[in-house]
Amino acid sequence: MVEPKTENRKPKIIFLGPPGSGKGTQGNRIAKEFNLDFISIGDILREEIKKESELGKKVRSYVESGALVPDELILELIRNRVDNVDNSEYEGFILDGFPRTVEQANGLKEITEIDKVIYLKCDTETIVKRLSARRICPKCARVYNLVTNLPQEDELCNDCGVKLEHRVDDCESVIRDRIKVYETHTLPLLDFYQSQLRVINADSDIEEVYCTAKNNCK
Ligand SMILES: [Zn+2]
Repeated sequence: MVEPKTENRKPKIIFLGPPGSGKGTQGNRIAKEFNLDFISIGDILREEIKKESELGKKVRSYVESGALVPDELILELIRNRVDNVDNSEYEGFILDGFPRTVEQANGLKEITEIDKVIYLKCDTETIVKRLSARRICPKCARVYNLVTNLPQEDELCNDCGVKLEHRVDDCESVIRDRIKVYETHTLPLLDFYQSQLRVINADSDIEEVYCTAKNNCK
C-alpha cells in the first residue's frame, strides 16, 4: 500500500551502489510497487539509439567510437524524461546509473531536486562472491547465479539446456578493479548527497534488502 501523501510533489529518488549490489533489480522492483518511473541511463541510451532520434545519432557516434557519452548529452536525455514524469501517471521516479560523479550531480541539480538517495552498501568480498558466481547462457543470454539463482540442472540453461558460461567481466581480478573504479568516483557523491542519503546494508539476502530499501523509499 502506498501511503497517502501530504504534498503533491512527486518523490525523486536516486539509487547508488557498486556493481553486484543488486541496485538495478531492487530499484526496478520498488519502482513498480510504488508506480515510479524507473529511469535507467543504460536503457535510455539504448532506446535513443534504437529510435534514431537526433540525440540518438549523437549517442551512437560516441558509443561506436568507444568514447564516453558527454555529460551534457546524458543530462539532456534525463531532462526530457524527468519532464515527462511530472506530466504522467507516475508518482515520481527512481534514477539508476546516474550520476556517477559530483560534476554530474551538479548538472542534475540544475534539472531537478532529488529527495532521497538510497545507497546499497556492499562489502567487497560479498560482491566478488556474488559476481564470480554469475553464469550466462551463451544462447539466450539468461543470467544465473550459482549462489542466489541456480539453474535446475548443474550449470545448464533451464530454457536451452546449453552449458552456462562465465564471462571475463565476472572474473575476480576484473571485479576488484571495477569496484575500485566505482569507489573512486562514487564515494564523493555520498558527501554531496549527505542530507538525502539513506545507507542500506546490501550484503544480506535479496528479500531483506528489498524490504529495507522499500521502506526507505516511502
Ligand atoms: Zn538459454
